[in-house]
Amino acid sequence: MKNLDQRNQIIEYSLKLNSTNLSPLRSGNISLRGIEDDKEGYLITPSGKKYETLKPEDIVFMGLNEEEENDASNKPSSEWRFHRDIYTNKKEAQAIVHAHSPHATAVSSHGKPIPPFHYMIALAGGDDIKCAEYATFGTEELSNNVIKALENRSACLMSNHGQVAFGKNLEDAFELAQEIENICHQYIIALRLGEPKILSFEEMKKVLDKAKNYKKG
Ligand code: 13P
Ligand code: ZN
Repeated sequence: MKNLDQRNQIIEYSLKLNSTNLSPLRSGNISLRGIEDDKEGYLITPSGKKYETLKPEDIVFMGLNEEEENDASNKPSSEWRFHRDIYTNKKEAQAIVHAHSPHATAVSSHGKPIPPFHYMIALAGGDDIKCAEYATFGTEELSNNVIKALENRSACLMSNHGQVAFGKNLEDAFELAQEIENICHQYIIALRLGEPKILSFEEMKKVLDKAKNYKKG
C-alpha cells in the first residue's frame, strides 16, 4: 500500500486523540502532508469513523487541487478544506491536528482571543492565541476563518468548536494541541479568580525571542 508508514502514524495518533482525551469519540481529525503518484497532497483521517476501528486503507489521500468526490466510498474528514488550505498557505506545516479538547472548546465558545496571561501563549507563535470566527463545520467559510486566525500562528481556537494546531511533524502538532489544551485549562482556572494580570507586549516580545531556542528534542 502507498504511504503505509504515514497511514500507520496517522492511526497511532488518532488512537492517542481518544486515549489522552484530547478529542473524544469520533471528534477531531488528523492529517500529514504527503505525495502519492507524484501528486502533492495530504493523507487525512476518514469522516465519522471510530478511531479504534481505523485500518491503513481507511486513511484518504487528497491532492492539494482535489475536491472530495461525491461517490467516493471512503470519505475524507469533513474538514479536508481547512487541512488543504493550511498546507497551501503554510509551507512549514507537515502535520495537522484538529481536536475538540474539553478546555479549548469551552474557551472557544467565548469567541475571543486568549491574552498572554501566561508566557506559554508564545507556543502558538505570537502574543495571543486567536479564535477563528464561527462557521458551520466542513465549510469553506470555516476554512477561511481558520486561515485568518492562523496568520503568524501555528495554532488557534475555533469558535464554538475546538482547536487546530500544525507542526513540522505529527509529534510536534500533537504536542502543540496538548499545550493549547493545558493553556486553556489554566486560563479557565485563572478566570475563576477574577481578571488575570496580562503580560505586556514588551515582555511577550522577549519571551518570543527566547522561545525560538527553547525546544530541545
Ligand atoms: P470528521 O469525522 O468528518 O473528521 O469530523 C469530525 C470533526 O471534528 C468535524 O469538525
Ligand atoms: Zn471538529
